[in-house]
Amino acid sequence: MSDSSQRQALQFDREEMREFGYQVIDSLVDYYESRAEKPVAEKLDLDALDGILTEPLPHEPSHWRAVLEQFERQVVDTSNRVDHPRFFAYIPLANNFASVMADALAAGYNIFNAVWLQGPGAAQIERLTVDWLRQIFGFPAAAGGTFVSGGSVANLTALAVAREIQLRGDMREAVAYCSDQIHFAVSRGLRLLGFAPGQLRKIPSDENFRLPLEALRAAIAEDRAAGRRPFCVIASAGTTNTGAVDPLDALADLCLDENLWLHVDGAYGAPAVLTPQGAEALKGLERAHSLALDAHKWLFQPIECSVVLLRDRHWLPATFKERAEYLKDVEAEGEEINFMYQGIQLTRQFRALKLWMSFKVFGLDAISEAIAAGFANAELAERLLRAAGCWEIVTPAGMAIVTFRYTPANGDQTLADRVTQDLVERLRRDGDAFASGTQLRGKPVMRLCANNPRTTPADLEKTIQLMGRLAAELEVQLAGLPADNQQPAHH
Ligand SMILES: *Cc1c(COP(=O)(O)O)cnc(C)c1O
Repeated sequence: MSDSSQRQALQFDREEMREFGYQVIDSLVDYYESRAEKPVAEKLDLDALDGILTEPLPHEPSHWRAVLEQFERQVVDTSNRVDHPRFFAYIPLANNFASVMADALAAGYNIFNAVWLQGPGAAQIERLTVDWLRQIFGFPAAAGGTFVSGGSVANLTALAVAREIQLRGDMREAVAYCSDQIHFAVSRGLRLLGFAPGQLRKIPSDENFRLPLEALRAAIAEDRAAGRRPFCVIASAGTTNTGAVDPLDALADLCLDENLWLHVDGAYGAPAVLTPQGAEALKGLERAHSLALDAHKWLFQPIECSVVLLRDRHWLPATFKERAEYLKDVEAEGEEINFMYQGIQLTRQFRALKLWMSFKVFGLDAISEAIAAGFANAELAERLLRAAGCWEIVTPAGMAIVTFRYTPANGDQTLADRVTQDLVERLRRDGDAFASGTQLRGKPVMRLCANNPRTTPADLEKTIQLMGRLAAELEVQLAGLPADNQQPAHH
């Protein structure tokens, strides 16, 4: 830094700011251009990690260049590349450069987007972007919503509204329903809102991992007969495990009949409505009372960009509005939105900017095609897995996810379990591609989530060949060992 007065004010001079900024951009652009050739994660010796990033509180300055290099070496190179075209684990997070720049702008201009009077342009962009989403999801004109950090907070926010509006805040004997495939964010959200574990009924899912209507109806009737108060059904619009979509339209009918709130966890799958197959699978989504969606998953935003939509825009302030004397002069008079009353944050990031900017820069048609690529990729993966002859498809490609198990030549299911289970760790050690496992009906399965639009057919072929080779090696190793003498699985 040029001189001590600037340092005291935490400033750089003009030339240094530009140099620092350009260096950051060069670092990112180099990464984007070389990403596909790099491993999904660097092979790391876990012991060597012990010594890093354990330094004393820094009283003296370091040159920014050294700090940037340290970040690249010790953080970037030790992280899984979740946007890599051969990263298929969990939910891949493929962001886009327009939104990365928007995040830089939101931070650089430090736009405060909580109070309409302090930044009507920013509030208007958030309102407009929420309204675009409202149109995409077919919610009524009266609907509204807000940007939040992630799907967990979006679900929590929606459930807080359901508690306020549907239950008028009285949780006694209230019961919510979902399938056993629900994301843990939902159960945690309800627990944080003060519901006891028994107030969420997880109904065993059907053979397609969907919430079964008859069992749900029976559970509701049983609870009513026992004097309990059913209030909410929580449906998945694409589970994280298999991409299963609950029967949304039929659930909307049921909720109408039973006077229940319908909340849809669309954190992963909701953006699929922008494709023909997705729109078909998600029919009925437009009838939900509330919807949580992660724009950082299948809408290609940098991490921390999610939205909660409510059928009636007054429900959010009805839940979150408080009065503060020091904010009296900024209270809205008319329809202006003060986002501090739309959720649990006051000072908040301007997250809408990135979604707005990428919608405008790429256009919605390109985004829809990028989502459709995920469907096509998972379908190709399924075909390749079937053709390889050593995999059993557990759930076919749907919502860009396919799940499968290894099938040893002798058909031994215990061996199939062990190979499938150990394969994740083998892939992690290999590093050229990555997929993760899960359990379905108590059995280990592998899953590929192929929602990254930069994934090519060659990436899928390479990944499936690699998995086949590693699994065959594992089969040989494990077949030679008695079951109780196998290597412990690494997790
Ligand atoms: C990822 C996910 C969540 C949680 O969202 P975060 O953004 O990780 O907080 C909730 N539900 C489903 C179905 C998800 O896939």
